[in-house]
Amino acid sequence: MHDIVILGGGSGGYACALRASQLGLSVVLIEQDKLGGTCLHRGCIPTKALLHAGEVADTAREGESIGVQSTFNGIDMTKVNAYKDGVIGRLYKGLQGLVKSRDITYVEGTGKLVAANAVEVNGQRYEGKNIVLATGSYAKSLPGLEISGRVMTSDQALQIDYVPKSVIVLGGGVIGVEFASVWKSFGVDVTIIEGLPSLVPAEDAAVTKAMERAYRKRGINFKTGVRFQSAIQDDTSVTITLDSGETHTADLLLVAVGRGPRTEDLGYEQQGINVDRGFVLTTDRLATNIPGIFAVGDIVPGLQLAHRGFQQGIFVAEEIAGLAPATIDELGIPRVTYSEPEIASIGLTEAQAIEKFGEIEAYEYNLGGNGKSQILGTAGFIKLIRKKSDGVVIGVHMIGTRVGELIGEAQLIYNWEGTAADVAPFVHAHPTQNEAMGEAFMALAGKPLHAHA
Ligand SMILES: Cc1cc2nc3c(=O)[nH]c(=O)nc-3n(C[C@H](O)[C@H](O)[C@H](O)COP(=O)(O)OP(=O)(O)OC[C@H]3O[C@@H](n4cnc5c(N)ncnc54)[C@H](O)[C@@H]3O)c2cc1C
Repeated sequence: MHDIVILGGGSGGYACALRASQLGLSVVLIEQDKLGGTCLHRGCIPTKALLHAGEVADTAREGESIGVQSTFNGIDMTKVNAYKDGVIGRLYKGLQGLVKSRDITYVEGTGKLVAANAVEVNGQRYEGKNIVLATGSYAKSLPGLEISGRVMTSDQALQIDYVPKSVIVLGGGVIGVEFASVWKSFGVDVTIIEGLPSLVPAEDAAVTKAMERAYRKRGINFKTGVRFQSAIQDDTSVTITLDSGETHTADLLLVAVGRGPRTEDLGYEQQGINVDRGFVLTTDRLATNIPGIFAVGDIVPGLQLAHRGFQQGIFVAEEIAGLAPATIDELGIPRVTYSEPEIASIGLTEAQAIEKFGEIEAYEYNLGGNGKSQILGTAGFIKLIRKKSDGVVIGVHMIGTRVGELIGEAQLIYNWEGTAADVAPFVHAHPTQNEAMGEAFMALAGKPLHAHA
């Protein structure tokens, strides 16, 4: 009998395996596809590689405007894919080496929960004092919308070996706007269709507005508050019809309407685990209702992010080892959208903060006053939200080129419950974009330097 049997080798599962082995626990890690899961092979890493290729394409186009003689001559998708796959391949090899170097029993195959303490793979039973479910998620579609041919999810979109002329992106959330950004940079005519009233609707209202302005400026078309009805495709194109009767035609349709939990037919419900619309319900200590069975990652309701999966995996390993780790504050998990411009946020939006605390204060520091942002030619802002009662910062929201890199400091401030008085004395290097964070806090402390009061 092992200490832990982990089903799924993605961000949540492998992080749990690595930490558990570090703690001297005996671990079985079961994976049916590739170690690393969605994030490494079909998610975070390939999309960010494409976004970087897009950034280089934009840089080539814009060189002339700052006196650098460069021209954009097109995208060679074979080479872009080779670059992307090279990055994945190196990380995959490194991860495989890491798992091999630890005392982890790695099992290839599709596992099924067959008892409260056992998973079966290829007819072989692996028993554990504890079981960790980490089977991740899949790209959803809409009723009646079949994924085939010109209609694809991110899984197929990451594999195409040509640059389409035009694309319709169904869904203006994180994955949708990231793909829209890549394709626009590659010279594609892009139209986003979003059912909710704005792009990136989970973000603070000021950020969504700025994002829409930036996308309009980039020439990315979008329709918000409209409902998709149907799609038909032929040899040359795909046409979608909205509820209003309006139609749009393009080479491809990317369906980016969210990700569902991969929990069907895995024995979870048969073993009595509480599941809601496919998601595995857990306590804040990630325990399911069945003693000894835990769940981590995208199958647990909440933010579907790789670093949340890592942290949950580490948490469960430490919990099983008896270290009584502190619970994870879901609001303290940083969120980054890696489009151009980038969006980065943590904590509550202004609307959520008002709902929760009533009296709050919000301050926006415009990147127009930040030297490095001007050098990069980006617009945007850092928005801080604090409680009026004690001044604790409860939300940080940013938009602009490269602001994802600023989330590190924002998350420390949020998670350490910082106030303007705590942060304003810290010196931020000049000229960095990070300096804008310092400036925002100086302003909030009542002593703005490169900003109006
Ligand atoms: C296009 C895209 C871009 C993304 N970009 C980002 C980003 O930039 N940053 C970020 O934080 N997150 C991003 N994500 C989300 C991130 O990929 C997920 O949150 C993360 O992968 C979840 O980890 P997980 O371990 O829960 O699941 P997964 O990574 O999906 O891993 C689950 C694993 O379980 C295996 N499995 C399933 N069933 C079985 C079974 N029965 N037997 C054996 N093995 C099984 C699967 O093969 C898979 O490898 C992105 C996702 C997508 C799709």
